[in-house]
Order: sequence, then structure tokens, then C-alpha cells
Amino acid sequence: MAYGFSDTVTADVNRVSSVAIPETATVLHTPCPTTVPFNNPLVTGRELEYIRHAIANKRIAGDGTFTKQCQAWLQQQIGCRGALLTHSCTAALEMAAILADIQPGDEVILPSYTFVSTANAFVLRGGVPVFVDIRPDTLNLDETLVEAAITPRTKAIVPVHYAGVSCNMEALKAIADHHRLLLIEDAAQAIHSRYQGKPVGSRGHVAAFSFHETKNVVCGEGGALAINDLELLERAEIIREKGTNRSKFFRGEVDKYTWVDVGSSFLPSDILAAFLLAQLEQSDCILHQRLEIWNHYHATFAELEHQGVVRRPMIPSDCEHNAHIYYLIVENLDIRTALLSHLKRQGVQATFHYVPLHSAPAGRKYGRTSGSLAVTEDLSERLVRLPLGAAMPVAEAKYVSEVVLEFFQGLL
Ligand SMILES: *Cc1c(COP(=O)(O)O)cnc(C)c1O
Repeated sequence: MAYGFSDTVTADVNRVSSVAIPETATVLHTPCPTTVPFNNPLVTGRELEYIRHAIANKRIAGDGTFTKQCQAWLQQQIGCRGALLTHSCTAALEMAAILADIQPGDEVILPSYTFVSTANAFVLRGGVPVFVDIRPDTLNLDETLVEAAITPRTKAIVPVHYAGVSCNMEALKAIADHHRLLLIEDAAQAIHSRYQGKPVGSRGHVAAFSFHETKNVVCGEGGALAINDLELLERAEIIREKGTNRSKFFRGEVDKYTWVDVGSSFLPSDILAAFLLAQLEQSDCILHQRLEIWNHYHATFAELEHQGVVRRPMIPSDCEHNAHIYYLIVENLDIRTALLSHLKRQGVQATFHYVPLHSAPAGRKYGRTSGSLAVTEDLSERLVRLPLGAAMPVAEAKYVSEVVLEFFQGLL
């Protein structure tokens, strides 16, 4: 399956598509000419040029000039004290677990409705994920249930900004401060999202971002740890450089470098940073184009929501989202299964999302739950994600919308 990269390279940000999908409803009973990919990332145009520069610099290991530029961009855009590029968001979360000094048996509060890395990063250090239910509106960690999950072993709270919609960071920060816990944001999906007017990633002690191919701003595999505490920043630099004070050495702050802490190799090559810089520079366009698709879906499905057959995403008034995911919540699992197969038959790649971690074999083995996870169990069975990408032509979104509408007309 081609995922857009090959045929969507454009110097400007015009939408380019190799397939013309008719826009009228008459297409619905004719076979779809091709597949609408679930994810269609945009290549913004300067990626190869920057990679060529990285190679010409003759310094393609980590922490070259492109890494520095990406970090400066992130620090400035997020408004954090420092940003360190990593080879994945998973790596950034693993760094956060080391920074939190997780010892065997220490507990970390997080949603069950998330990607495995949110939990695994802590399990790797012997930590115990404590799964708490999500809010029915945003599918984010329910801040009102967090305090009941705190025990003397709790070390950190790890909210996940699902679909790029911020958690209630004001409430979570107050709880974390009150109980002296580390607040570690899993902001993998939330680059460019805002909460109370400020960028996501500027409130927690640290925040982990992802630049994986499936996210909004991409470099294939990549991530970053945004840090809002200077002491943590100094230690994070060391953890990221295999536990050495190599970064201080390069800045001339020490005359030789040595092993000073635990650590690993969390740096990406400057070749990937070069790709990423091209994306970061065009990220306003990426955001704009994703929002266009998201808004198209949202307007189209208003009527279905009015009829009570689907529920659309809900964005709290103090959140500005980044159009990372467009999802619909349908009535039950049977309808979801039928809708997904209808979409597949019409050439549309749609999908569900997480299998709740507390119900997964490793989740049962390594974690525990706090209270009921009824909302997680219910909504995870009813959620459908629709195709969305910065290089996705609006015509494709129209086609997808029509296929969805057709499905529900068939049900009525
Ligand atoms: C994508 C994602 C990750 C992992 O990101 P990688 O960069 O692939 O390691 C972690 N948490 C959440 C919520 C994600 O969506």
C-alpha cells in the first residue's frame, strides 16, 4: 500500500493526488477506483535538500546542526525550558521514567485507553501502571478519578492528550503539586495543540512528543522530550547521552566526559532531524490542511449526531486541537464492525483504536486498575477513526463522508 509519500512531493503545499474520486453521491454504488489511505502524510518539499545538507556537513550522528535547529524550534513553539530530540516518543517516555526515578513497585497513574509505550516506559523500570478511567467527552484521563488512585507508592501522573485534545491540565497540575508527583505529559499526538491559550507541553514537568509517520509532523521515527524544569533538563541531557556528561564536554563546561548516571542512546541521527526540520518549518500548513479535513467531517456529521446515531468529537472550550484524529462514536460494537466493513468494501481505510491496556495480557500482568474502567471499556468498542492526513485531498474526505452517510441511511 502506497502511503502518499511517493506521489505527494510538492514544493508548495498544494494538495496533490494521483486518483480522482468523483465528488457526487452517484459514486456510491460504483466501485471505488482505489483506496483512500488511512494516513496520507505530507512531504513539504525541502526534506531531501536538508538531508543533503546533513550529509554534506559530514556529521550525521546525533546532535548535529539540524538537531539543534529542531530543538530550538520546539523550545520556542512549545514555550518549554528545553527540548531534546529523541528517536521516538517511546524513547522520550523512557527518559521520563528514568527522570522520575521509578523504582520497582513504584506506581504511575495513566489512562488504559492509550498506546502501549505510555505504560511500557515505566514497566521497564519495574514500575506499576495504575489504570484510571477516561472522560466520556474527550476520552482523556478523568482528572476527577486521579486522587482516589494515589497511594504512598505513586510517583507520577501521565496524562495522554488523546486526538490532540488537551487534558484538564489545570486540575492535574494542582493534584500533582499537592501530592508532589511528577506530571509527565504523553503529548505524542499533541504538537500544536493548545490549552488555555498555551501550547501543550508547557505545563507538565516534562512532555513527550512523537514524529512517527502516523502523527501530524513526521520524520518516520522520531520524538522529543520537552522539559520545563532546569534540574530535570540537566539530568535529561546526561540520560540521553548514555549516562555521560558528553553534552557539557562539547559546550566546554567540563574538560573530559565520563559516565555519571544511568542512561541509554536516545538520540536520532541528524539525517532524521534534517527531515524533521523541513516538516516543522511547514507545520502551520500541515495543521491548516488537517483542520480543513477535520472540519469537513465535523460539519458533515452534525446531522447524524442530531439524529442520535453517532457522537462526534467534543472539544472543551479551553482547548484548541490539532486535527490529529477524526473519530465517530457509534451505538455499539456490531454497528462499528458493520461500518468498518462497509467502508472497506468502498475502498476506505478506517480503523478502530486502542484495545484498553488493562485488558491486554501484559496490562494484567504488570498493571492494576483503580476503580471502574467502564467508560474506557464502552467507548473503545464504539470508536471509528476516519482517514485523515495533510496530503489528503478534500475530495477524498467528501467521498469518505458520503460512504459513511450511505451506511447510516441504510440502517434507518
Ligand atoms: C504514537 C504514540 C506513542 C509512541 O510514539 P512513537 O514515536 O512511535 O514511539 C506514544 N503514546 C501515544 C499516545 C501515541 O499516540
